[in-house]
Amino acid sequence: MATLNGILNGLEVIEFEFAETPKSTPDNPRYFKEVLRVLLADGTVVYNCAWTNCEFTRPKASGVWPHVKAHKNQTTRTPKATADLSDIDVDGLPLAEVIDRARKATWYSVQLDATQKKLDKATREVEEWKPRAKAAETQLASIRKAFSAVA
Ligand SMILES: [Zn+2]
Repeated sequence: MATLNGILNGLEVIEFEFAETPKSTPDNPRYFKEVLRVLLADGTVVYNCAWTNCEFTRPKASGVWPHVKAHKNQTTRTPKATADLSDIDVDGLPLAEVIDRARKATWYSVQLDATQKKLDKATREVEEWKPRAKAAETQLASIRKAFSAVA
């Protein structure tokens, strides 16, 4: 994207995030990997290609998506010989990839936290229910005894 200097379409970028896809719902948010939703200083929202130094913008995310192919064609033409250790350096990743990884890492840590809390709650509940189950068992046994005495 073009916001390494914080300017897009000649305006200051207030904030940006990955654009949601048409399939995105509040329960199951889905994002375009290479399209950013950018809020500019004058209050307008534009959709911007996520590739470094690319100033391609459209009023809709769907307008940016086909453009991303242009970068992919460039990538496939790049000879493999240029691949070296710097390829695995985080600084060498496309900005989109860095943000994507950060987003995933955050998501996983949130999920881990939530799962741990659920597990703790379930464990507490099991502890609570153990004595009650025991009591019910004893009760059932004495009821059975009473019935067999009557029979
Ligand atoms: Zn682009």
